[in-house]
Amino acid sequence: MAATSMEQLVSLCKRRGFIFQNSDIYGGLQGVYDYGPLGVELKNNLKAAWWRSMIYERDDVEGLDAAILTNQKVLHYSGHEDTFSDPMTDCRKCKGRFRADHIKDGKCPNCGSTDLTDPRPFNLMFKTNIGPVDDGSSFGYLRPETAQAIFTQFKNVVDSTSRKLPFGIAQIGKSFRNEITPRNFIFRVREFEQAELEFFVEPGEDEKWHEIWKEERIKWWEEQGLKRENINIYTTPENDLAHYAKACYDIEYQFPHGMEELEGIANRTDYDLGNHTKAQDEMNLTSHCHPNNDSTQKLCIMNDNNKWVVPFVIEPSMGVDRGVLAVMTEAYTEEDLGEGNSRIVLKLKKHLAPIKVAVIPLKKNNAQIMAKCHEIKKNLLKLGIGRVALENTGNIGKAYRRHDEVGTPLCITVDFETIENQPESVTIRDRDTMEQTRVNTADLRAYLLDYFNK
Ligand code: ATP
Repeated sequence: MAATSMEQLVSLCKRRGFIFQNSDIYGGLQGVYDYGPLGVELKNNLKAAWWRSMIYERDDVEGLDAAILTNQKVLHYSGHEDTFSDPMTDCRKCKGRFRADHIKDGKCPNCGSTDLTDPRPFNLMFKTNIGPVDDGSSFGYLRPETAQAIFTQFKNVVDSTSRKLPFGIAQIGKSFRNEITPRNFIFRVREFEQAELEFFVEPGEDEKWHEIWKEERIKWWEEQGLKRENINIYTTPENDLAHYAKACYDIEYQFPHGMEELEGIANRTDYDLGNHTKAQDEMNLTSHCHPNNDSTQKLCIMNDNNKWVVPFVIEPSMGVDRGVLAVMTEAYTEEDLGEGNSRIVLKLKKHLAPIKVAVIPLKKNNAQIMAKCHEIKKNLLKLGIGRVALENTGNIGKAYRRHDEVGTPLCITVDFETIENQPESVTIRDRDTMEQTRVNTADLRAYLLDYFNK
C-alpha cells in the first residue's frame, strides 16, 4: 500500500469537514487552523483517551485547567523570555524569513539564493497588552507551553490533595508559538493544543521514571492505532536540549512529510520549580533556587524522610494536533475493490472515530422508516458511546462510502423488513470488512456495547 500523502489528507480534511484553514474567506491566517464538525469529534476523542489514561486509569495523577494568559514574571523566571527562541535567517534576495536550522545546503528554500543573513535569535512568544492602558508597561504572554501553570500551581495542588511523591499533574490546553515558518498542515502551527503531564519524583529517581514514561507513552500511541514500525525514539543530543532539560526523548512518527517529533519526553530536573522558588536558608533546600525571585511560594514538598525537597520532573508532552495528523495518516487507506471500484477508508480505532454509528433509512423521507431510525438513534445515545448520526439521504451506497471515508465503524440500515417483519431487525455493516449482519433490534444494545467495549 502506498504511503499516505499530505495532499490526500488535506483534501479529505476539507472535503469531509475535519480541518479548515482559519479565516479562509479572507485568504487565511498562516499557521492557524480550525477544526470542523468531524475534526472536533476526532480531536476530543483523542484528548479524552489521553485524559482517561493519565487521570482515570492511574491513581497518582491530578488534572488542571489553567489560563492561557500568563504573568510576564512566570515566563521571565522560567527562562522563556531569555531563551525561548529559534535562529532566524533572512534571504536578502526574496526577503523571505526562515528558521536557520531548517535551511539545507545554505540555500534560501524560497528562491535558492545563497545571500542569507547570519542567524539571529527570534523569540517565539506572543506578547500581549493586558488591561486598558497600552503604554507597554502592563503586558503578559499567551503561554508557549501549558507546563508553567502546572509549576506555579504546584503548591495549591499539593495542599488541596495531600499528594506525596511520586505524583503528577496533567493538563490539556492551547499553546501559542510565533513559529517563523509554519508548515506541513497542522504539524507546525502558531496556535495548537498540548497534552502535558508533569510527573514529580524524588531527586535521584528521575532517570528511572524517564525510562518508565518513555515505555508508557509508546504503548499509548500504539493503542491509538500507530504501528510500532512507524514510531522512532530519538534521543536529543546534549547540545540540542531545551534550556530546562537534562535529557529528552522524542517520540517521532512517520508523518507524510517525514519522520518527525510527535511527543517530547523531557527530564526537566528541578529547573522550573527551583526557578520559581526564592532560595530560603531555613528550609535547607538542596536544589538550586532563584536568589532574588519575587514569588511568594516555596515550590517544595516534604518527602518520606521529613525533608523538604524540590522534586525533579519528568514531562511527557504531546501535541494534540500532531496526534490528530498521526492517527489520520495511519488510518487513511485506499482499497481496490476490483472491477474498477475502489474506496477510501479511514481505519481509525473505534474509540477515536468521530461518528460511532450512522443510522441510515433505506428510503428517504419515508415516515415509518424515519420514525424507527429516530427511535433507534435515541436508544443508542443512551449507551454513551459518542456521536450517533442519522442520515436521510436515501442513497445507501453513497452513505456507506461517505462513512467509510470519515471512519464510522458501523452503519445501521433500517429497511422495509424492519418495519414489516417480526421480530424486528436491522442490518449492521462493518466499515473494515464491509460485512453485513442482520441483528434483531431487541439485541442491538448488547451487540453495540459488546462491540464498543472490546
Ligand atoms: P519542534 O522541535 O518540532 O519545534 P519542540 O521540541 O519545540 O518541537 P516541545 O516544546 O517539546 O516541542 O513541545 C511538546 C510538543 O508540542 C511537541 O512534541 C509537539 O507535538 C507540540 N508542538 C510544539 N510546537 C508545535 C507547533 N508549532 N505546532 C504544533 N505542535 C507543536
